[in-house]
Amino acid sequence: MGSGPLESRWETVIGLEVHTQLLTRAKLFCSCPNLFGGEPNTRVCPVCAGMPGALPVINAQAVRLAVRAGLALGCRINRTSLFSRKSYFYPDLPNGFQTSQWEPPICEGGRVEFISGGRPVSVGITRIHLENDAGKCLHEGLDASLVDLNRAGTPLVEIVSEPDLRSPDEAVDFMRHLRRLLVYLDVTDGNMEEGSMRCDVNISLRPRVKEGEGDEPYGTRAELKNLNSFNSILDAARHEQERQREILEAGGKVEQETRHYDPEARITRGMRSKENAPDYRYFPCPDLPPVFLEEQEVEKIRSGLPEFPEQRRLRFEADFGLNAEESGILTSSAALADYFEAALKAGGGGKRTATLILAELLPECARRGLSWSAVNFSPERLAHTVRMLDAGKVSLRVVREIFAELLDSDLPVDILAEQKGLLQLSDSSVLEEAVRAAVEGNPAEAAAYRGGKTRLLAFFVGQVMKATRGAGNPGLINKLLRQYLEE
Ligand code: ADP
Ligand code: MG
Ligand code: ZN
Repeated sequence: MGSGPLESRWETVIGLEVHTQLLTRAKLFCSCPNLFGGEPNTRVCPVCAGMPGALPVINAQAVRLAVRAGLALGCRINRTSLFSRKSYFYPDLPNGFQTSQWEPPICEGGRVEFISGGRPVSVGITRIHLENDAGKCLHEGLDASLVDLNRAGTPLVEIVSEPDLRSPDEAVDFMRHLRRLLVYLDVTDGNMEEGSMRCDVNISLRPRVKEGEGDEPYGTRAELKNLNSFNSILDAARHEQERQREILEAGGKVEQETRHYDPEARITRGMRSKENAPDYRYFPCPDLPPVFLEEQEVEKIRSGLPEFPEQRRLRFEADFGLNAEESGILTSSAALADYFEAALKAGGGGKRTATLILAELLPECARRGLSWSAVNFSPERLAHTVRMLDAGKVSLRVVREIFAELLDSDLPVDILAEQKGLLQLSDSSVLEEAVRAAVEGNPAEAAAYRGGKTRLLAFFVGQVMKATRGAGNPGLINKLLRQYLEE
């Protein structure tokens, strides 16, 4: 999929609407606890059950989390935003309307950048608005449908992207990036199986044009509702892309419609057309005053944001000469990045510390099926190892050789190397002896070197290294070999 005629003739256009449950203590408009599951209808009060006359009160923590998300996604924060009623009929929506934000929403006009398929992607964020979740209908194995309102009133932000995504893979990577960021910021628990994050995928195709020839207008889109796993987003979008391509190539027209993805059958199905033309009849909610935000309040939230993984990554690259892949791994979790920085504080140099983590610690832990935090290699031990390398007491080759033992031992690297007779040899008299033996033991290579094949130096370095079991100081060996061969 995603190759051949599809690549050449049609360009896929995708925009996402991501519903994210906020990590608040209480629901959006009442004080019922915001918890997943529980005995049906045990976390319900007149407000979230939609009783006539019960008055909603906005949850300030939810407002703060929405602002936090908006700032993290580069949005403008509207100092005044408004709740409206969005009319639906659904058995699990007791009010007969959803309380959502129409105009103006709390955040607008952001942008996120992330890497997909090795390339940077930039996606506009149209808006973020607050709204309440519905309850759930239970009909499995029953003759009737039952309604559980525990989830009704859970605070959500809906994050709407611009149609800037160009493939199902980019759409999934966008969702992954969003999830990682919002979980890192404690905006949501990001638990997709429990429905904490789910999205609608809007997708259309248009004829592909050559670079610089301007764009075709967008084609007609279908909206795939309520996808709650990375796999189903990818699967549904790929399937829908293919379905639209077939229609277009047969000379047909794609209808604007809402479709449902069936994860069992792995196909999307259209809904009845009556449901495809919703008239939400938005009108300002008479029970809720506008949400006002003081400039200071927004600034307080802004200054309370931690350094984003992306910023930290770029800082690591600039400060320690790491490439994007290396810095990406070091910032894959806040804990690993903290560990790296703790080792730097303990006195290890940046580049070597990073190399030891990336080339030794993580691969060795992967071989053992353990987390890096589960082995005996504190930031202090890591920093000490780097200092011993810098001081030339142990060679990188020896550290590699004894790394597994180092993790199983309490000894510092230099003592362990000494016990094994692997301390780096910087004693010229010992090395001179090894150099002499290497040259005299290989007269043919020595003659060739002297005759101009100076690339053979590497061969002699190898011989001396072998003789010193990798403990010889390579710089010194090079120098001594040159002297000996060229004198
Ligand atoms: P609605 O509110 O009716 O769902 P919007 O115009 O607000 O419609 O768009 C919702 C989502 O659809 C946005 O994420 C937007 O980027 C995306 N979208 C709009 N037009 C297209 C299109 N032609 N192809 C793909 N996605 C689109
Ligand atoms: Mg929509
Ligand atoms: Zn309630």
